[in-house]
Amino acid sequence: MNAQKQISRRGFLRAAGLIAAGTVAGTSVAKTLSSKKTKEIKKEKSDEKQKTTGKLQLRKLGKTDLKLSVVSVGTGGGQSPQVLKYAMKNGINFFHTSTGYAGGKAIKNVAKAIKGQQDKVIIGLKITWAPDDDEKMDAALKILGVDSVDIAFFNLHKVSDVKKDKYKKGAERWKKMGKFKYIGLTTHGEMKECMEEALKQGFYDAFMPSYNLTMQKDCANVLAEAEKQGVGIILMKTKRQMNSENYWQSVPKYLSIPAVTTINKTLKTFADINKMIAASKEKLTPNEEKEIEKIAAMGMTGHCIMCGTCSKNCPQGVPVADMMRCADYYMADNEYYEVARETYAQLDITKCTDCGKCDQICPNNVPVKHHKNKLKTLFA
Ligand code: SF4
Ligand code: SF4
Repeated sequence: MNAQKQISRRGFLRAAGLIAAGTVAGTSVAKTLSSKKTKEIKKEKSDEKQKTTGKLQLRKLGKTDLKLSVVSVGTGGGQSPQVLKYAMKNGINFFHTSTGYAGGKAIKNVAKAIKGQQDKVIIGLKITWAPDDDEKMDAALKILGVDSVDIAFFNLHKVSDVKKDKYKKGAERWKKMGKFKYIGLTTHGEMKECMEEALKQGFYDAFMPSYNLTMQKDCANVLAEAEKQGVGIILMKTKRQMNSENYWQSVPKYLSIPAVTTINKTLKTFADINKMIAASKEKLTPNEEKEIEKIAAMGMTGHCIMCGTCSKNCPQGVPVADMMRCADYYMADNEYYEVARETYAQLDITKCTDCGKCDQICPNNVPVKHHKNKLKTLFA
């Protein structure tokens, strides 16, 4: 149930209870109750308004001096400047972008949206180039119209990459040059292990993992350790195993994780922004909490948890986990169909011999072959 429906449902239930009481107790009592009911309804309306227009909560990002709105916008959908401006107007102050999103359109739209008010917004930039490629770094900053971004995120999905010394050296050098204020890691493969290794490295300020409710147990320790070390957590791809109706209910659940600063989501429309903001202000009842846990438990089997085991063990070196990420995109109510297509186009799966090892080895019983064939049909 979406947040707005949920609010209306609660209001309706309370009002319905009061009407029933008035009917059995007589006219004068009915009048008193009617005025009480009016007050209740007025309060509901004002609460509802507060949920969409009231101030959005800010949270400190780990040990940095940045305060991010608890919901924020990922720009993978190449959203228009109008949508981004609407988000800012409603208290969202963090945008994450990349030169690769939406064929380069996303970062340009961010630049248009923040023009003249760069100081009011916190920008995260995904680094998809080598950690010493000044040309690409400067080009991205130029598009954004800034000399420096708040957080630059290395985009690493293998522990062996996180271990490479060049990232630490690159981060220190760029930081000294003033290209960014803080350094982060964005990861969606070997995710838990990548974050564990990054914590050992000790120079990261923030992590942006692909995280969903099926990962609660698996990632509890690493998130707690990140919190202890003051590494801020920004969650992405949280919609996994939820649908357009029940996703909004999971938002307060994510925000109840102590390590979490913000949920970064590709909010594409004004309505999406309103729903996300309203959802962030909800509190789950014990029953709703149980419902969400049930959905999470159902999602445990058969859904990719981005552990990377398949990629690590493929005899042909096929980027299976990346392929599964594409499947994730197209399965998300077709919301990210274009992102799936773009990501798939960058993968080389031609070496796959259909040996079936990835299906057998997946710890979560994901039907990898099924998704592989589906992607081929859709995008090859
Ligand atoms: S498909 Fe299975 S093995 Fe591969 S990343 Fe997903 S959960 Fe891990
Ligand atoms: S079927 Fe075999 S070759 Fe193809 S991706 Fe899976 S493990 Fe690799």
